[in-house]
Amino acid sequence: VSRFEGITMAPPDPILGVSEAFKADNHELKLNLGVGAYRTEELQPYVLNVVKKADKLLLEKGENREYLPIEGLAAFNKVTAQLLFGADKPVIKQQRVATVQGLSGTGSLRLAAALIERYFPGAKVLISSPTWGNHKNIFNDAGVPWSEYRYYDPKTVGLDFEGMIADIKAAPEGSFILLHGCAHNPTGIDPTPEQWEIIADVIQEKNHVPFFDIAYQGFASGSLDADAASVRMFVARGMEVIAAQSYSKNLGLYAERIGAINVVCSSPEAAARVKSQLKRIARPMYSNPPVHGARIVANIVGDSALFNEWNTEMEMMAGRIKNVRHKLFDSLSSKDKSGKDWSFVLKQIGMFSFTGLNKAQCDNMTNKWHVYMTKDGRISLAGLSLAKCEYLADAIIDSYH
Ligand code: PLP
Repeated sequence: VSRFEGITMAPPDPILGVSEAFKADNHELKLNLGVGAYRTEELQPYVLNVVKKADKLLLEKGENREYLPIEGLAAFNKVTAQLLFGADKPVIKQQRVATVQGLSGTGSLRLAAALIERYFPGAKVLISSPTWGNHKNIFNDAGVPWSEYRYYDPKTVGLDFEGMIADIKAAPEGSFILLHGCAHNPTGIDPTPEQWEIIADVIQEKNHVPFFDIAYQGFASGSLDADAASVRMFVARGMEVIAAQSYSKNLGLYAERIGAINVVCSSPEAAARVKSQLKRIARPMYSNPPVHGARIVANIVGDSALFNEWNTEMEMMAGRIKNVRHKLFDSLSSKDKSGKDWSFVLKQIGMFSFTGLNKAQCDNMTNKWHVYMTKDGRISLAGLSLAKCEYLADAIIDSYH
């Protein structure tokens, strides 16, 4: 009998488990809209040309494979903070940002969660309802208490702004408010610039700490600056801010696990202390981060020709998703005779669309139509082609009614 008899089978991951189920299906019309990864119109994974170029240059340079410092590659940490906060902004010049390279967005969030657990005992993190499924896992595993603030309004398939503000106001003073910097996952619904200002007002009044998860900078709108506007507005108010970054989507570096955690502090001294503690947290967890993705990012951002090429490719990816969004909306509107208003599809941004389908309807999508998606009704438009929009519209309309 095994010493591990007491270990029961874990349930499949609600997001990554969808891909496993998809693989097992042999139907020719099957469609994987579960995981948030960019695909071409031919529904193939995509390696950015600019990444291929950077890879080639790195190979030619033949750099060594020695350990990085605990905080990661210095050249990467410098450019990643500049990309997020704006290279010419005072916060950068004043050296008020503690930046540590992390294992992509997830690992960076996990470092921040550990920092909160260690230095703010009992403080709560408020997360949106709904949110990316892994947020709850991350805070649970770090031992950080969390609760939810209202975000999605099923009646309008839009933002429950009043509920959101009321819940942030009602949270204990000094809570951490987790915000999606752009392209909210899973809803695709972002606050307007005016609403962001009000959110910042309330957070400031209550002495909360804004904690941004920004996994789609440049990938949502096609513009790195536009997608960072929310974060920059908070920083411009002089607020202290936490921000976790990921290069999975905007550079297609999913498996390289490259991202960063940034803590904006009110003084360079505080930033230096925070950074030293982030390193202390990282050391026993994974010692130091991988080098390859960090070199790719640092080389692309640090070279104006490659940087421009990246921006062009990002616009192309964001543009393809927007085209698919329009085609899906057109297909739904023309095929559905029930008079349902599908305009929410157009209002959402980023790679996801929140369809409003309930669990039973999602089951119908998968069982009858072979469309794989998460059970919260989210579909990844990045996994959809123009050619498949009509088929998907048929599936959605059938499942709704
Ligand atoms: N945060 C959000 C909201 C996401 O959607 C994702 C990816 O799907 C991540 C973080 C982190 O992804 P990764 O760990 O691959 O950077």
